[in-house]
Amino acid sequence: MAEMLHPKLTEISFLLNNGVRMPAIGLGTANPPEKLAETKQAVKAAVKAGYRHIDTAWAYGSEPFIGEAIKELIEEGVIKREDLFITSKVWPVLWDDVDRSLNESLKSLGVEYVDLLLQHWPICYNKRNDPHGINGLARNPVREDGSPDYNESADWIETYRQLEKIYSDPKDRRVRAIGVSNFPVEYLERVLKECNVKPAMNQVEMHPRLPQFELNKFCREKNIKLTAYSPVGSHGAPLVDYPPIKEMAEKYNISPNDILTSYHVRQGSFVVPRSVNSVRIASNIEFAPLSKEDIDKLSDLGRTDPKRYINEEWNKVVPGFTGTGPPV
Ligand code: NDP
Repeated sequence: MAEMLHPKLTEISFLLNNGVRMPAIGLGTANPPEKLAETKQAVKAAVKAGYRHIDTAWAYGSEPFIGEAIKELIEEGVIKREDLFITSKVWPVLWDDVDRSLNESLKSLGVEYVDLLLQHWPICYNKRNDPHGINGLARNPVREDGSPDYNESADWIETYRQLEKIYSDPKDRRVRAIGVSNFPVEYLERVLKECNVKPAMNQVEMHPRLPQFELNKFCREKNIKLTAYSPVGSHGAPLVDYPPIKEMAEKYNISPNDILTSYHVRQGSFVVPRSVNSVRIASNIEFAPLSKEDIDKLSDLGRTDPKRYINEEWNKVVPGFTGTGPPV
């Protein structure tokens, strides 16, 4: 039997609800401080391997390195700005100043617009100066007693309203689409009720052990796309060595990384694996045409062995974003 041909993950894209086309796989860039400078060569390796989507955020500190990479790639004639899809995010310390967040991201990235701008978390921090922080602000401000310095009187929806205002202004060309990240269903419902622009995206932790059944159902009904973060389980890539994933990789004769990314793309979602390893970046772009049975088998791990890998202090503030998430 002739072997079936499948596109590479880097050749697949989906439409957002406002008609903007977005590549299915993007390079994640939330690198730890000691690896931040490696982001530049990672982005160059990714683009040369065919990636056209870069996932970043004001809070990652990786934007200046991505900017250097883009500048060189354009100078080398590898790409033009419009060939790339760049996602950035507004961190909760700038919950009331999306304009500043966006301008600082654009300046660091050396571009005139981002393709997608997300509200990073539905929480509001007070601003505290910190010379070692991001652009002079503490990323995770704490009070004198060490507790997180949340702004208790602020409303997270204000950030989305500001995103919406920028997006809706025909003279403002700085964003092509807007969305959210780490939003549970009830928060999305409030946005749909109180705001005019439907979010194009909700970026959340998602993988076979956290399949996000409820969000998938809701977002499919409302035509809001999902992006999966931490697809291999974040630091140390624990899912790569997880037996059910290795087994599926052997079945398809493909790497565990490819199983973990194809799992989302096969279901019509986006995925943003992070790596600074250029060999891994270039080799992990095979698409596994997983069957419905295989997808169900993988998603079943979310019932039998659920696990959330990103459990930061501030996850506790958002309903369903702590522990192993909502019941399935
Ligand atoms: P990932 O699940 O992508 O894991 C990345 C880590 O896995 C890297 O350290 C990488 O190392 C390692 N890795 C990958 N494959 C292998 C392998 N085969 N063997 C050994 N190590 C491996 O983690 P992230 O949590 O970074 O998530 C991806 C992206 O999602 C982020 O970079 C960011 O862009 C986004 N994100 C968004 C969040 C949000 O709140 N919206 C929160 C968290 C992430 P190496 O570099 O050596 O390849």
